[in-house]
Amino acid sequence: MNPPGNLGEVVWGVSPPLDRQPYVPILSPGPGRTITGVILSDALVGVFTHWYDGRTVPCYHGPGGVCALCQWAPRRWKGYVALLWNGTPRQGMAEITLDAVRGCPRLADKDVSLRGLRLVLQRKGRVPNGPVTATVSPSPFQIESLPVPFTVQDALLRIWSGNEWVASAARSAAREGGQA
Ligand SMILES: [Zn+2]
Repeated sequence: MNPPGNLGEVVWGVSPPLDRQPYVPILSPGPGRTITGVILSDALVGVFTHWYDGRTVPCYHGPGGVCALCQWAPRRWKGYVALLWNGTPRQGMAEITLDAVRGCPRLADKDVSLRGLRLVLQRKGRVPNGPVTATVSPSPFQIESLPVPFTVQDALLRIWSGNEWVASAARSAAREGGQA
């Protein structure tokens, strides 16, 4: 079979593509379960979200501080930290609920670094959306020996990408950016 059309030139001298960013799972304990790990982030990243179409999506700060979903879905605060998971080399994103942070205000204290603290998230009871408690305590790890954490915001954007709500919000932001 003949090759289609004009093939042009071979592309030489291309640097190897950068590593693909690894997929980082969101860690949230199931009913009656516990998640334990060592926090790698300095601080918690807080974000407003909505529950939409069976998943968590970000709330966009539109004109007036609300987004289209704000009109009919409650806005829920969630916090995320990079976590070295249960002593393994795996990193995940621990999801901290508002209840959890209220019970463990140190997680939201911007004056102390969370890096190196042991985190325990526990969901008591049998309900998937039952309350989660958080506790932090010193860990035996040397902070210098801990891996550099991934960027929580980038990992969340990768998880959210592909969602129709996120895509439409990005399109409308690009439109408004073009008009400005
Ligand atoms: Zn919203």
